[in-house]
Amino acid sequence: MRRLSIGLRLTLWYLTIFALAQLAFGGGMWFLLRHHLYELVDNGLKGQMEDLENCMAVQEKDATITKLQEEVSEVYLQEHSGDYLELYADNGALIYRSAFLQTHPVKLSAESGNRPVFEDLSIAGRAFRFTRQTLEANDHVFTATTGVPTQDVVETLALFRSYLLMFAPFVLLVAAGGGYWLSRRALAPVDALVRTARDIGGSNLNSRLQKLDTGDELQRLSDTLNEMLQRIEGAFLRVTEFTADASHELRTPISLIRTEAELALRRSRKETEYRESLHHILLEAERTSRLIEQLLALARADSGREALQMRAVDLCHTLHDIAESWQQLASVRNLEFSRSIDGSDSFVLGDETLLRRLTDILLDNAFKYTPSPGSVHLSFEQRGNNAVIAVQDSGVGIAEEDQSRIFERFYRVDKARSRALGGTGLGLSIAQWIVVQHRGSIAVESRPGRGAIFRVELPLIAAAMHHTLPA
Ligand code: ADP
Repeated sequence: MRRLSIGLRLTLWYLTIFALAQLAFGGGMWFLLRHHLYELVDNGLKGQMEDLENCMAVQEKDATITKLQEEVSEVYLQEHSGDYLELYADNGALIYRSAFLQTHPVKLSAESGNRPVFEDLSIAGRAFRFTRQTLEANDHVFTATTGVPTQDVVETLALFRSYLLMFAPFVLLVAAGGGYWLSRRALAPVDALVRTARDIGGSNLNSRLQKLDTGDELQRLSDTLNEMLQRIEGAFLRVTEFTADASHELRTPISLIRTEAELALRRSRKETEYRESLHHILLEAERTSRLIEQLLALARADSGREALQMRAVDLCHTLHDIAESWQQLASVRNLEFSRSIDGSDSFVLGDETLLRRLTDILLDNAFKYTPSPGSVHLSFEQRGNNAVIAVQDSGVGIAEEDQSRIFERFYRVDKARSRALGGTGLGLSIAQWIVVQHRGSIAVESRPGRGAIFRVELPLIAAAMHHTLPA
């Protein structure tokens, strides 16, 4: 089921609360009025009873019933109508009963005892309120019942109630209208935001939502959405740039492969020439697959789908292992390759494959950008709670202004040199991603022509802990 709009829900809430308030107020007023009117009636009845008691109190103690009947008629009925009075002596003899009560005998349902009782009765279609009390006078106990017509009270209350019921729908209608108008007014900026947001797509990510100056939640909402749009735009631009760069990078080796093959096929050649062409094609193909592999690694990293196999890795052991595999290349390239890997219990929590790739990237760069004769040095040391891996070379070095940019994707200080050496411009971006995944840091120190040193710091895990982790 479709949910109602916020505006409508607010109106309904407003209306419900207003209706309840009105009910409470109207009901309260009605009860107050009723209480007050009946209090007046009861006070009148009590007054009558008091007068009757006084009248009986001045009678002689042993006055006969006939005498009392005369006294009531002469004294009491002078002041009071007595239209609804009934009076009994303590022996049950009737002293007085009005004509009305003779034709319409009343019987109060509640037992009085010594306490006065009040009761509303409807007699011959008219409303009355009666009270019955015991009056103590002259050592006698009389039982008196008297009443008053309350038709006016009942009619006044009914009128008041019908006024309330008559005006309630109008008041509620006005409240609903007011509530709807208020909620529309409060939510109007939201509609404006929705309209603008609906128009924003991939092609106009630079658009922003209308800036609100309301200083309230809506302003915070529009500001937050605008900040979010800015971040999305930035990420979108990076992806677009990356795609454009990647396509460009892929186009170069493929067109080289194509040109080489076309040239080779243009006329018949000697076997050595064909071999040379195929060799070039193979080199470019290798470069292309390396580039694709790196692009895939970054794409996986970006999408967060690269699942890291974290476990305790003995860095000293791993680095020795890596250094072995680079030893041979060093002698082929005529470079001096040395290492100083000291430390015991140098465990980090990491993905060994990725840590190997990280070291390979740094060593590969050091070998690539160090012309022969030169030297490359791999070192490892513990500094506080960190493991520091450093790859130092005596190569071409990196100018200060390029040092902050070499970790960007496809950034190369010397594009031609990098390409000639089989570089893709992605190695350090991948290295940095690996370091970040291991909660570490990477930094470079270099001077042009004086070599470079790349330092990676990774947090070590306590000796006692790595035994508990999977190896
Ligand atoms: P590439 O595949 O081009 O080596 P990287 O991302 O690994 O890409 O490195 C980016 C750039 O940083 C390289 O093109 C190079 O100009 C510079 N660079 C990296 N390592 C070194 C180094 N050890 N000595 C000099 N320059 C380096």
